[in-house]
Amino acid sequence: MVVGEMVEQVDLLVVGGGPGGYTAALRAAELGIKTMLVDDQPKPGGVCLHMGCIPSKALLHAAEVLNTAKEAHRFGIKFDSPQIDIDELRAWKEDVLNKLAQGVSGLLKSAKVDHLVGKVQFIDSKSLRVDREGESNVRVKFKHAILATGSRPTPLPFLFKNEADMQSPLIMDSTGALALADVPKRLLVIGGGYIGLEMSTVYAALGSEVTVVEMMDNLLPGVDKDLVRPLATKLSGQLKNIYLNTKVKSLDVKTNTVVAHLEGEGSPETLEVDKVLIAVGRKPNSEELGLEETEVEIDEFGFVKTDAMQRTADKRILAIGDVSGQPMLAHRAIRQGIVAAEVLAGKSSQFDNRAIPAVVFTEPEVAWCGITDTEAKEKGIKTASAKFPWSASGRAMTLAEPVGQTKIIYDPETLRVLGLGMVGPRAGDLVAEGVLAIEMGAVLEDLAESIHAHPTLSETINEAALAALSRIERQAQKTSSSASTGAKAHG
Ligand code: FAD
Repeated sequence: MVVGEMVEQVDLLVVGGGPGGYTAALRAAELGIKTMLVDDQPKPGGVCLHMGCIPSKALLHAAEVLNTAKEAHRFGIKFDSPQIDIDELRAWKEDVLNKLAQGVSGLLKSAKVDHLVGKVQFIDSKSLRVDREGESNVRVKFKHAILATGSRPTPLPFLFKNEADMQSPLIMDSTGALALADVPKRLLVIGGGYIGLEMSTVYAALGSEVTVVEMMDNLLPGVDKDLVRPLATKLSGQLKNIYLNTKVKSLDVKTNTVVAHLEGEGSPETLEVDKVLIAVGRKPNSEELGLEETEVEIDEFGFVKTDAMQRTADKRILAIGDVSGQPMLAHRAIRQGIVAAEVLAGKSSQFDNRAIPAVVFTEPEVAWCGITDTEAKEKGIKTASAKFPWSASGRAMTLAEPVGQTKIIYDPETLRVLGLGMVGPRAGDLVAEGVLAIEMGAVLEDLAESIHAHPTLSETINEAALAALSRIERQAQKTSSSASTGAKAHG
């Protein structure tokens, strides 16, 4: 029941309490701006904390423990089959999320950011309404607003006969899969992108027979194929089947099972499973916000258009995070949140980062930053690269996991580091060195001459840089010796 309407006035209203929104609110408050944060979920943290990054990584940790125990027989340690208490696992994951959400609430409170729970509807460029369930609606007048409404899973309605089938508990999106209601015996994952593969890793470790169907010719479409290969090999041992170049044409939802109709290379025409996870991408939350009452402009994909200072076409409204474009990643949202708050405080801040790292938290992890071979080829950028295989890394050997590779991509003229791509355990942590190198304008010598601790996986970055430099040296020697031979012949 709605009782009346209250009116509030703030300098800054942040819409959305995900990593972008709460970071923007905290930075703005720190800079002395009277700030209010509104989110439609009871606890702050957004998708990342409650339905994305954090729950998936908690479950992936459980998967890693199970897989490590299973493979320990290779060095003489044998465990009995694990007993998995799914209720306890779920409760542990929820506990992690609750503690982190409490942390965010505490930070907002101590920064004196007003936190309101409710759904936002813009009235115009200066005011909006917050609809609160069972409480008075609030009208908020603001000098500025930051849109940080994030994104949601893309559904595939055309696969189903009717709406009821689409809503069946046998059909999950990433949020449903992370809720971990049960462990289906047979799971079909539609989409071989990072979310599909992370969730496949979790469910396969918990005991599901997982089949992945991907429309493109490779898992992790768009990622350099040499980085994906070791992961694809490992996954082919963990999953029941991976069908590439394959489309799901329709899903027949029965009482307890789902029959998928497939079309593709080597795939069966039908596949009966107990549950289906649809993980084919995400859509920006730019609709149903009343943005048409403002000057904000939206592009053809639904993203809010911004400039490098995160300003939209409406001079009072900025936008950050998933709602403002690709790549939809929490750390991009966080950086943009800081930029937006600083711009509003009159600082000369810009989102001009050269490297946004991307990490796929599978086993092995795949991570990259800066330019990739794929991107360089597409854009016709001249690059060179050097690789170091983890089979030659002492640390990788001691982890009983010598599967991996480190690749440095550089400018062949200036030797400046342009990109770093890695596949192997903890690649996601290691890629940070590449981000720093790219942001600092480092050249190959900087990575080759900095001492990396031994034995660590970080040495593979050092080794890849050394490999590039020795190749360049060899080429230079060859050129100078053929030049001197030529000179002698002429002299
Ligand atoms: P969000 O986190 O989406 O938060 C937006 C908030 O706004 C939500 O709480 C939403 O309910 C609220 N909202 C929307 N509309 C309204 C409205 N009208 N009124 C009030 N509130 C509203 N990224 C990584 O960097 N690393 C990872 O490992 C990673 N793993 C992921 C795993 C999964 C399964 C998924 C789904 C995503 C993952 N992501 C990961 C992506 C990451 O979650 C997003 O990039 C990130 O959450 C974006 O942050 P944001 O601040 O833009 O918005």
